[in-house]
Amino acid sequence: MKNAHPNADFTSPLTRAHQISLDWLNSLDTRAVTPSTDIETTLSKLGDLPEHPVDPTATIEHLAAAVEPGLSGVGSGRWFGFVAGGSLPAALAADWLVSAWDQNAALRTVTPGAVAAEIAAGRWLLDLLDLPRDAAIGFTTGATMANFSGLAAARGRLLKNAGWDDEQGIAGGPSIRVLAGAEVHISPIEGLHYLGLPNAERLAVDDQGCLLPSALRAALEAQPDRPTIVLLQAGNIHSGASDPFAELIPIAHEFGAWVHVDGAFGLWQAVSPTYRALCAGVEQADSWATDAHKTLNVPYDGGIVIVREPGDLRFAMAMHADYLIEDAVGDPHEFVPELSRRARGIPMWAALYSLGRSGVVALVDRLCQRAKEFASGIDHIPGARVVNEVVFTQVCVTFGSDERTDAVVERMLADGIAWMSGSKWQGQSVLRISVSNWQTDEDDVRRSLEAMANAAAAVPR
Ligand SMILES: *Cc1c(COP(=O)(O)O)cnc(C)c1O
Repeated sequence: MKNAHPNADFTSPLTRAHQISLDWLNSLDTRAVTPSTDIETTLSKLGDLPEHPVDPTATIEHLAAAVEPGLSGVGSGRWFGFVAGGSLPAALAADWLVSAWDQNAALRTVTPGAVAAEIAAGRWLLDLLDLPRDAAIGFTTGATMANFSGLAAARGRLLKNAGWDDEQGIAGGPSIRVLAGAEVHISPIEGLHYLGLPNAERLAVDDQGCLLPSALRAALEAQPDRPTIVLLQAGNIHSGASDPFAELIPIAHEFGAWVHVDGAFGLWQAVSPTYRALCAGVEQADSWATDAHKTLNVPYDGGIVIVREPGDLRFAMAMHADYLIEDAVGDPHEFVPELSRRARGIPMWAALYSLGRSGVVALVDRLCQRAKEFASGIDHIPGARVVNEVVFTQVCVTFGSDERTDAVVERMLADGIAWMSGSKWQGQSVLRISVSNWQTDEDDVRRSLEAMANAAAAVPR
């Protein structure tokens, strides 16, 4: 080691982190999915800021010992909360390399290796998702920033079309209108907020939460000349259903609207021949947001924004300065909100390479199969009823009254076998299951159903 600094040894802390990581990963199948301690206890174990340097290996040991009891089994095959996803081995290992290489994936000329891997990942993603092959891609922290970026491109394009100079800001400019289904996710709404755009007008949806074409047409006809963004959704977080894009997008385009699709997990319907029909027509949109850290099972910090006209995303996101060594074709930082960022497309590359095309399809099909197994198992639990059509990876269950459903959810979380959260959907309490982890196997479903049946049996009907 060149540096004589006492903390310059990488081998020992990285070796220790490697061992601790493996111990953690190998414990996931047997440990409780819920944490065994709280924030206050963990804070006191973490201790005060040391007055003097601490050995890096000792730092890692101390960190892991303090924090691990407070972690959830998010990477376990029995974690069905939110829409989480785990980490494929190749993606996790590549994520470590991204940290070790520590490239700022902003500039083509400075880090051609990292940029090339991200370009390759981007091409494969467009191919698998069957989106326009010459669309622009930006790698963001998650779908929320991907939604923000797609909506920023929409805002820029609509203002430009209306003859408004973006440099003036948006106050006093054309009044952009945003339309969405009543069950739109909060994430793109946050993007509208960041961008100074109005909240979305909520339109009528069907019983699976999908926007009704008649409602969209009526809303557009009411104000045909306003610059409009139509915010659609691939994958409702409760039902898993996607908006009927093949009908909706031509209507939106008839009125000159920009169509943005939030497809954080649902856009992955497109990769599977079995499930592709669920999101038929999605390729006609103008921008899309999705996550690699959900369905593709890449570690966190993996969102993707895709914009049909590369110039629209570049206009919204690019910044220029003389000290940057810029490439005329457009540098990666010109397509994302950040300037400095980790090469987060590399773990996506590794996930895709290690799975291959058939593996990506099999991953999606397997998640859907597990969701179906849940649905048929729930049919055998007295008093339980699946309330959505289980078309993809999402299952919502009622156990009768809201009080009873809430009590079952509470019991399930307390016993730590399987993590599923409660939610409200269409006015009633539900237990929400999202199958998103590549490791979830039939046995995980069986054990989780057993835990659910026990929780239900313990709450009087
Ligand atoms: C998870 C999710 C988001 C937000 O994605 P993040 O990666 O958490 O920012 C947006 N929309 C839908 C439908 C989601 O499931």
